[in-house]
Amino acid sequence: MTFVRTVLGDIEPSELGVTYSHEHLVIDGGRAVLLEPDFDLSDVDRMATEVAAAAALGLRSVVDAMPCDAGRNVEKLAELSRRTGVRIVAPTGLHHDRFYGPSHWSRHVSVEELAGLFVADIAVGIDALDYGGPVIRRTEYCAGVIKVAGSTGGPSTRDRAVFEAAAAAHRSTGAPFLTHCEGGTGALEQVRLLVDHGVDARYVVLSHVDKIVDREYHRELLSTGAFAEYDGSFRWGDRPNGTLQLLQWMAEDDLIDQVTLGMDAARQDYYAVYGGSPGLGWLLDGFSAAMDEVGLDAAARRRLFVTNPARAFAFRVDHGGVG
Ligand SMILES: [Zn+2]
Repeated sequence: MTFVRTVLGDIEPSELGVTYSHEHLVIDGGRAVLLEPDFDLSDVDRMATEVAAAAALGLRSVVDAMPCDAGRNVEKLAELSRRTGVRIVAPTGLHHDRFYGPSHWSRHVSVEELAGLFVADIAVGIDALDYGGPVIRRTEYCAGVIKVAGSTGGPSTRDRAVFEAAAAAHRSTGAPFLTHCEGGTGALEQVRLLVDHGVDARYVVLSHVDKIVDREYHRELLSTGAFAEYDGSFRWGDRPNGTLQLLQWMAEDDLIDQVTLGMDAARQDYYAVYGGSPGLGWLLDGFSAAMDEVGLDAAARRRLFVTNPARAFAFRVDHGGVG
């Protein structure tokens, strides 16, 4: 029997309900905030208000996408989940190289050591200190997804070691992947690399690929069996909405069962509680209305928000997530 591992415990995939597949509900320090103060999402009170408003529109679950030592704070994620009733899946893994810098510890450990840290996050509990120092204090809150990041055009040498460690952690725990595709590129290279390391592509969710509005690219990456996560729906400005266009194409191509949706809203400026827009509820109000207008009806949206995430974020069936 498979399951989804949330911060507050394992659930059946069917219990996920309406799910956002790539969010940043908490960013608590780390290099990202040093580089960009607008990334500071450390205020749980404010975020609880934002999440509650989206829950009133139907949001039931969120996959958070900030992995080890880049501003992840699992105690805050757990608190947010308790206060709002919205389920949260927390990641292990590592983000893009730019969020760590050249002297980060992750560059000086072996693939096996890195895999061991990921496995412990999944099977034992995420470090309260977020692998930010030599002391590790495991919480009772486990990671339910492995987040790794590729560079432009595919994994760099640095990324390859991280992907190898992630693949090893998947082989021993069965946890699914959520990857970052830089500028939407390199998705096929990422899938190939993971498959070469013993991963079935259907456990891989490729984020941000809607930045590339190319029907063939999407057909090709979905033909691998992987999932695509589209999160650019509110970023098109005056241009035609490429995210909406891709959704229409994938519906016509009968590939929509491999697509999930998110916001990737990693800035205060995107959240209503900070005076920003479009707010976390966007996918369920404004963008759902836009989807409806182009024929992506309630049944199609149920696949995007409910049935597809339930498959994409379930652990591999032959594993109990125990490491
Ligand atoms: Zn993200």
